[in-house]
Amino acid sequence: MKKRSLRDLPPQALDGKRALVRVDFNVPLKNGKVTDDTRLRASMPTIRYLREKGARVVLLSHLGRPKGGSDPQFSLKQIVPDLERLLGAPVEFIPDPATGMTVTRRLPRGGVALVENTRFWPGEEKNDPELARTFAALGDLYVNDAFGSAHRAHSSTEAVAHLLKPAVAGFLLEKELQYLGNLLRDPKHPFVAVLGGAKISGKIDVIRSLLPRVDELLIGGAMACTFFRAMGLEVGGSLVEPDRIELAKELLATSGKKLILPRGAVIAPSLERASEHRSVSIDAIPKGWAVFDFRARLLRAKTVFWNGPMGVFETPPFDAGTRAIATALVEAGKKGAVTVVGGGDSVAAVAGMEEQLTHVSTGGGASLEFLEGKELPGVAALEDA
Ligand code: ADP
Ligand code: MG
Repeated sequence: MKKRSLRDLPPQALDGKRALVRVDFNVPLKNGKVTDDTRLRASMPTIRYLREKGARVVLLSHLGRPKGGSDPQFSLKQIVPDLERLLGAPVEFIPDPATGMTVTRRLPRGGVALVENTRFWPGEEKNDPELARTFAALGDLYVNDAFGSAHRAHSSTEAVAHLLKPAVAGFLLEKELQYLGNLLRDPKHPFVAVLGGAKISGKIDVIRSLLPRVDELLIGGAMACTFFRAMGLEVGGSLVEPDRIELAKELLATSGKKLILPRGAVIAPSLERASEHRSVSIDAIPKGWAVFDFRARLLRAKTVFWNGPMGVFETPPFDAGTRAIATALVEAGKKGAVTVVGGGDSVAAVAGMEEQLTHVSTGGGASLEFLEGKELPGVAALEDA
């Protein structure tokens, strides 16, 4: 179902109005400083648009996983300087939403305020309507731009959207739904998905959801090892999920020729002994084949979705497969393919290449749940277009 967007609201719905915006400011911090401001920058189009239209912007986000109440280590106050720099405007900090109403009413048109970490209040993760009422009192309309939190039914993502209308999607959320939605709805074929990472167990629902939609599903990373075992191959001390071998067998048997596994791998006695690495083939095809094999399939594609690294990409030389996939995605994009990357570690693996990819999702867990075909509570709660 298409959701109403910020774009759909008439000027009078914004001018002078207090827009309560749920953003994803869950940024990495070190010694009180933001070490990566990607998520702050990702929210700028929505915030700038609101300010230009004369709205008074009240920002709401969680940060980290504080345990039971407020904790200075997780205070959003720490991000205020970065936010002010990106906006080129002062930001008023609201330490407690319960007493924040006067601050929001005082804000000038185009003014910006930031509420303290929503998870400092225990009601947040319980989707407590009381806390949602407190949040709702800080705005005249609700905008959700936090795709990364949309798979959670929390007070600031779900309950509040029922209490404050209009409740619409911000530009970032809209963009995520558009690109990820297209993968499920109307992908251009050939549609090739690449799945990797550590475990099948965490990705099984995505595999099941994507298999009928894709032309090929390339499996790499440790996940491939469970499939190798299902095929009766030796994988040594590689990460295998013994209780998923049967499942892997079933998938291999039912997927036709769609499931494609690497033909080679980079191996070592252990991560600590990485310097002793060797390239080997899985079924006696010369080394080097794995990478080129996947690459050729990606270059034929018109749509590519990638989640999960092809190896322990944090430790060279086990990053080679992951890098090769990233490069192949960029090449496919140059030939006109739509290229979409989702997942926490996968997104880290393509850092610096974002401009050369069609869409890099800001929502790790949320993007996977979306592609599993699940309804995201934070999206469902918004008004239909
Ligand atoms: P994402 O966050 O993109 O969804 P995952 O969390 O599923 O990806 O997987 C990423 C992790 O998988 C990385 O930490 C990587 O080191 C690990 N991994 C990938 N291949 C292997 C392998 N062959 N052996 C051990 N770990 C692996
Ligand atoms: Mg991960």
